[in-house]
Amino acid sequence: MGRMIYLDNNATTQMAPEVIKAISEAEPVVYGNASSMHTFGREAQRLVEEARGNVAELLDCQPSEITFTSGASETNNTVFMIAKSIIDRKGGRIVTTTIEHPSIIETVKYLRKQGIHVDQAPVSADGRVRMDELEKLMGPDVVLVSVMTGNNETGAIQPIKEISALAHRFGAMMHTDATQAIGKMQVSCKDWDLDYLSCSGHKFYGPKGVGVMYARKGRPFEPLVHGGEQEHGRRAGTYNTIAIYGLGVAAKLAKENIAEESHRLWAMRERLREGILANVPNVVVNGCKERENCLPGTLDVSFENVEGESILLMLDMAGIAVSTGSACATGSLEPSYVLLAGGLDIELAHGSIRFSLGRFNTMEDVDYVIEVLPPIIRRLRQLSTRG
Ligand SMILES: *Cc1c(COP(=O)(O)O)cnc(C)c1O
Repeated sequence: MGRMIYLDNNATTQMAPEVIKAISEAEPVVYGNASSMHTFGREAQRLVEEARGNVAELLDCQPSEITFTSGASETNNTVFMIAKSIIDRKGGRIVTTTIEHPSIIETVKYLRKQGIHVDQAPVSADGRVRMDELEKLMGPDVVLVSVMTGNNETGAIQPIKEISALAHRFGAMMHTDATQAIGKMQVSCKDWDLDYLSCSGHKFYGPKGVGVMYARKGRPFEPLVHGGEQEHGRRAGTYNTIAIYGLGVAAKLAKENIAEESHRLWAMRERLREGILANVPNVVVNGCKERENCLPGTLDVSFENVEGESILLMLDMAGIAVSTGSACATGSLEPSYVLLAGGLDIELAHGSIRFSLGRFNTMEDVDYVIEVLPPIIRRLRQLSTRG
């Protein structure tokens, strides 16, 4: 491979060198089952508990409120199934949005088939939830409100503290999928008064296949995976000790670097945005506009009269990895439901590209994109008008 620039950090991140070092040192020696009572087991358990402490510090909660899962998808499913279980017994409904991650959107479809009532609040063109519409959907029968902290496609940040207060005013529980926000902004279970939160290790430079569920002390809990007594019966299955340990190291790094990291990401994002707007005609920047409402490293752009997939493939040939809006449905050429939910024209949605910057990107990467992208768009537009 020649020069390769990875600008798909919202899909997944490279593990931090500190995480790789920690897990490669632990892997050969810590192989006991963390549930075993002997020395090997206790050593494994020690790493799991160290990680739990780090995560609790990052999320501003108690270690006992943290359960390790396989990722945010599993955590999101667990939270919604807890709500289903309550609704099955006592009635009620769930309120969420139209722009959640597929692990919630598809769970909503499944729950509706099971007879559960779920309402989805719309968003504005800037990707932010329509608070007036959300309020209209509230009522005393709402069991759970679930709104993501930061959107994986547009980068729009939602006012979670405010939404949480609204949910509680109606006696509902509040969940947020904070997967994209971790390490990029302050996330506080306490300050936001959350009941549940989801996140995933590989989105903040930790290992893949390991995630977190925060459930506030005293809130209902039902396991999705039944079996052994791991996690106090909340999530059965032998501990993925090394991955959990790695997630803990990543959590510690994330907490240390939030201010500096978000500042750096925003500077690169703005340079990229300005560079594209100055050098490519007929483009639209999708989603958030103001610094405080944006995930700092995310830039979603629509190019008129070009297919996002064609841009992605041409950029890949030039050594630049990005994604189209429909990243989670690779293989299908469906435009992004998130962009359509924001009211974007379907043609423009087809021409969208998401650039997501991360810890290992530099200004030179951004300048290279600004150099390579304009001729690619020109060429694709020539081809499409000729066709
Ligand atoms: C990536 C992501 C998920 C899913 O995480 P997994 O690790 O694939 O389970 C959920 N929500 C958001 C917002 C994400 O970006």
